[in-house]
Amino acid sequence: MKTIGLIGGMSWESTQTYYRLINQKTRDQLGGLHSARLVLYSVDFAEIETLQHQGDWDATADILGTAGQALVRAGADFLVLCTNTMHKVASEIEQAASVPLLHIADATANDLINDGVTSVGLLGTRFTMEQAFYRERLEARGIEVLLPDAAQREVVHSVIYEELCRGLIRPDSKAAYLDVITSLGERGAQGVILGCTEIGLLVQEADTSVKLYDTTELHAEQAVQFALGNG
Ligand code: GLU
Repeated sequence: MKTIGLIGGMSWESTQTYYRLINQKTRDQLGGLHSARLVLYSVDFAEIETLQHQGDWDATADILGTAGQALVRAGADFLVLCTNTMHKVASEIEQAASVPLLHIADATANDLINDGVTSVGLLGTRFTMEQAFYRERLEARGIEVLLPDAAQREVVHSVIYEELCRGLIRPDSKAAYLDVITSLGERGAQGVILGCTEIGLLVQEADTSVKLYDTTELHAEQAVQFALGNG
């Protein structure tokens, strides 16, 4: 079994989910008392969030690259970056650490392709929805990406930072998200990517008839398969 290096804390609300899912999936595969071999480097999210909103991505890459190097020194064979947004600097982190980094958009694209999805809605931070780094990675695999309109994107973004990353789960925000998901379905999306690792804390599959692709779940699955030599 390979040792997984988790770069977490963005926010720690979803890092908990990664830790639980990776261990559950490892036990499901291996049985008994098996659990995942992993090391976690959890950053101070306030520092990262400030740099994101200042547009200082180079500084975030330095912090996360240093975290990746520390994980490798602690025995990590590969890296899992527990946030969609910070995949903006995924290649810089991978280069600094000199071990593979499993890209969250690849885990998601693989599942979409398996399901025959060619047009998908994307929810996430404004950075993930509006910048090219995430969308283009999906488009390169032949998947069309539909975004919420500007007002909807503002709601989706602010609920992530003001509520979900602070552990707040509010029914009115859940209803607002479900409206956005429904409208993406009406515009032709065959499914919707929960492209922020905290969104699964707010909306789940049972809440909507639109097929949801939860990136935290898909990324955790990809990590376990890779650790067990199946990926
Ligand atoms: N966890 C979130 C994501 O998946 C947002 C927090 C962040 O900006 O890293 O994008």
